[in-house]
Amino acid sequence: MISKSKLAVFDMDGTIIDGRLIDALSTKFGLYDQIKQIQADPSILGFIKTQKIASLLKGIDEKEIIFALESIPIMNNFQHAVSVLKEGGCKIGIITDSYSIAAKTLANNYDLDFYTANDLMANNGLVTGEVCMPLGWDKINCFCKNSVCKRYHLETYANKYGVNIKDTVAIGDTRGDLCMVTHAGIGIAFMPKDDYINKCKYIINRPNLSDIFNFIK
Ligand SMILES: [Zn+2]
Repeated sequence: MISKSKLAVFDMDGTIIDGRLIDALSTKFGLYDQIKQIQADPSILGFIKTQKIASLLKGIDEKEIIFALESIPIMNNFQHAVSVLKEGGCKIGIITDSYSIAAKTLANNYDLDFYTANDLMANNGLVTGEVCMPLGWDKINCFCKNSVCKRYHLETYANKYGVNIKDTVAIGDTRGDLCMVTHAGIGIAFMPKDDYINKCKYIINRPNLSDIFNFIK
């Protein structure tokens, strides 16, 4: 099958990888309860949550992020999905509110075209607790207020590659993907974890990324 989509964006946690990087890190370093508490607090804006969580990682060796990534399985048929999209000449990338060091590793391993993620600052290989966030909602007045406004970065890559937004596909599993998934030409909720499920036209309810081709012509 040859895809006609010209730009495909994958979320990372719960989409490309069958787990969440921050969960693997927080379990290893005994931060699980603290991080879950921040994540669950509706009074904290998304990008502030990212800052608070990053501050808890202060002092961790950067390599631990790669080890945590390697501890999580790749989603079924991600490689297949990438191969089919590439055959159709599609640009493929990752937009995630996880960390660049992990997104870059996956982008290299699967020969993807781009990634956008939060940069955890490090000094001599140790995480400082500071984070450099791509943001973007401030530029397009997006509701999300997340550390990575996925809609803004989807639009930015579409412009960069000269792709009409109608010819984009975006795949994600949580509320953090909502602004991107509802704006892409084809937005797919993959194993959705949050209540945004009602807003998505295309939903995949089993852990198999080959199913994106049920919707991508
Ligand atoms: Zn947004």
